[in-house]
Amino acid sequence: MKTRVTEMLGIEHPIVQGGMQWVGLAELASAVSNAGGLGIITALTQPTPEDLVKEIDKCRQMTDKPFGVNLTILPTIKPVPYEEYAQAIASSGIKIVETAGRNPEPFLPSFKKAGIKVVHKCTSIRHALKAEAIGCDMVSVDGFECAGHPGEDDVTNLILLPLAARRLKIPYLASGGLGDGSGLAAALSMGADGINMGTRFMVTKEAPIHENVKQRMVDASELDTSLIYRSLRNTARVFKNSIAEQVVDIESRSGETRFEDIQPLVAGVKGRALFEDGDLDSGIWSAGMIVGLIDDIPSCEDLISRMVEEAESIIRERLAQMVSN
Ligand code: NAD
Repeated sequence: MKTRVTEMLGIEHPIVQGGMQWVGLAELASAVSNAGGLGIITALTQPTPEDLVKEIDKCRQMTDKPFGVNLTILPTIKPVPYEEYAQAIASSGIKIVETAGRNPEPFLPSFKKAGIKVVHKCTSIRHALKAEAIGCDMVSVDGFECAGHPGEDDVTNLILLPLAARRLKIPYLASGGLGDGSGLAAALSMGADGINMGTRFMVTKEAPIHENVKQRMVDASELDTSLIYRSLRNTARVFKNSIAEQVVDIESRSGETRFEDIQPLVAGVKGRALFEDGDLDSGIWSAGMIVGLIDDIPSCEDLISRMVEEAESIIRERLAQMVSN
């Protein structure tokens, strides 16, 4: 498949692995890139900008294909030196950056100077138009189905993607609720030039997380996610485990929720430990509604090639037959 996304990013298939805290390590990013997609290393998973540069170097040893770095700017428990991470990325030789969470304008001059293509993740059309106006090269349009932070508008991709096609000039990726060939074909037909997947890539052989987490997502249905931090206007979609249910319960009590009341339950370091030890009720982890459509743990290569084959067959056979008769 040749699209504006494959051309701009220099990749074989229009499939990008989104930034994922504690998951976007060189092992996964290189596996996705080697399979012809675009792998992405998550900057904040590395404790310092120097460690990020080391992770980028490690990924270069593992693939000679393009890969990118994600920089997410959202509330955090500990302050993050974003400017230093951005500088480390700009001077690392990386050519593709996915920004998310907040307007990336302050970082654009240094990224542009380094010849970096910037893909900004947006959960609304107004943010996508803003990203286009400030000079982002591409956006990733993130529907309400997505894992992590869907924003506060709750608009699904069946609305967002055609709207993006009507309003945007720059290419865009569809993100959220995608994990098979039918989703790829649907996103392309609604105007996207490619797709971004997070949760689906967590459930692959190469994802650097405990098998218990992968198997739990295989066993899950589309009803197994929870929205937390709604009361704090920092909504996140996470896997529905006992911790997520406790957070929802605390937030539903009368009166204002203070982040301090839930912080011990949701700290990212607990999520990282959960990914290492497989204790499924010891923290929270991001997961999208796509868990309802995930029923195996393939390699990234097998996943990407079967998705592309399925999408091509839907376009060439099922859809073509409908219009040729
Ligand atoms: P962390 O341990 O600093 O915080 C844990 C969670 O609490 C995060 O979701 C964070 O946004 C939220 N949070 C922190 N302070 C808050 C406050 N004052 N008010 C409301 N919410 C608050 O986070 P981490 O797990 O180390 O992750 C680092 C960054 O990556 C965070 O900004 C997080 O939001 C982001 N992240 C993004 C995604 C995504 O879907 N894009 C997924 C996971 C994490």
